[in-house]
Amino acid sequence: MNFGNFNFHPLVAKGIATAGYEKPTPIQVGVIPHVVKGCDVMGLAQTGTGKTAAFVLPILQRLAAGNQGHIRSLIIAPTRELAEQIHQSIEILGRPSGVRCVAIYGGVGIHQQIQKLKRADIVVACPGRLLDHIRRHNIDLTQLEILVLDEADHMLDMGFIPDVKQILKHLPVNRQTLVFSATMPHEIRQLTKTFLNDPVTIKIGNTATADTVSHAFYPVAHHLKTALLLNLLENTNAESVLVFTRTKHRAKSLGKKLMTAGYQAASLQGNLSQSRRQASLDGFRDGKYKILVATDIAARGIDVTRISHVINYDIPSTPDTYIHRIGRTGRATRSGEAYTFITGEDTKMVSAISRAVGSNIEQRTLPTFNYGKTPHNFAYYSRQNKKPRQNKSAEKNR
Ligand code: AMP
Repeated sequence: MNFGNFNFHPLVAKGIATAGYEKPTPIQVGVIPHVVKGCDVMGLAQTGTGKTAAFVLPILQRLAAGNQGHIRSLIIAPTRELAEQIHQSIEILGRPSGVRCVAIYGGVGIHQQIQKLKRADIVVACPGRLLDHIRRHNIDLTQLEILVLDEADHMLDMGFIPDVKQILKHLPVNRQTLVFSATMPHEIRQLTKTFLNDPVTIKIGNTATADTVSHAFYPVAHHLKTALLLNLLENTNAESVLVFTRTKHRAKSLGKKLMTAGYQAASLQGNLSQSRRQASLDGFRDGKYKILVATDIAARGIDVTRISHVINYDIPSTPDTYIHRIGRTGRATRSGEAYTFITGEDTKMVSAISRAVGSNIEQRTLPTFNYGKTPHNFAYYSRQNKKPRQNKSAEKNR
């Protein structure tokens, strides 16, 4: 299968060539023909599979026919970073077609957005700011043809579903709807039953994470995590590393420690202003920062193609979160490594993650690291005299 099989309009084909894509990825092979035919689609695929182009290309194909200059397509994404990335993909793939795309999210001035909305063909938006524009009558969605909900499971996690339901009330009923999600929680299944019309479901891969990723657990005492990370970085030929922590505070302090240790590192967490977040992200994407330390929410949907290693400094609180974190490496055709530090508190999550990945994940120790008095033939180290973690309160700190 190659892109020629889709019979795209020459301007769309030119966009594909500009992006440098040679062959469609499996999600593109599965999704594109159905979208081009006009069907509603439920796409089950994680970030890194090429899902953005799977919906952007058929949208461009549809836009190539008919008039431009009014909003014909709306893409809703849970975070500003993801909205911005989709916007950038459209800018590249849609440049030859001359489509106008605007990204709409909070934390930046509203007036420029209002001007751009008047001329846009495609809107990529986060739910809160979009609803704001709808309520102020800044946006005309009466001629909308295609709606995309991207990372629907994240929208659920972030509490956006009520906003999405409100938005849907303002859209024409006669439209095509595409939903993408890495997982299918009950609430998303229910939601899609009500607003997708006889959808085709396309699922990519039966294991939960990309085949191109290799996984390892690193048992370690909690107080040795930073030392282990530094040792690991010293002994690993890592091109670009994304490190996950459970709290914003830890992301910030770990980022600083890495900088003090001489690494080009930055952190990405919710307490940063939008411009600082963008600077961290751009610096990581351009290679100015080799290491980015982030919380889950801040890192949602990050698309940096060169990420060679994802390191879970703190184990994620659900297997789904693990899959999302790991989805940042081994993207498209590259391979990647996923390392997770585990302590004695993490026993249950270690088993749940192994089940989700569908294989036993290797446990490794570093021969160059001084683990102290604790013997090496452990199951994994315990954090002494500490109560088990409360996931709910931890959630608030992200
Ligand atoms: P996504 O899953 O949409 O976040 O895409 C992951 C990465 O794969 C992005 O950097 C895309 O530019 C890239 N990509 C998408 N489709 C293709 C393709 N057919 N060939 C090569 N890379 C691709």
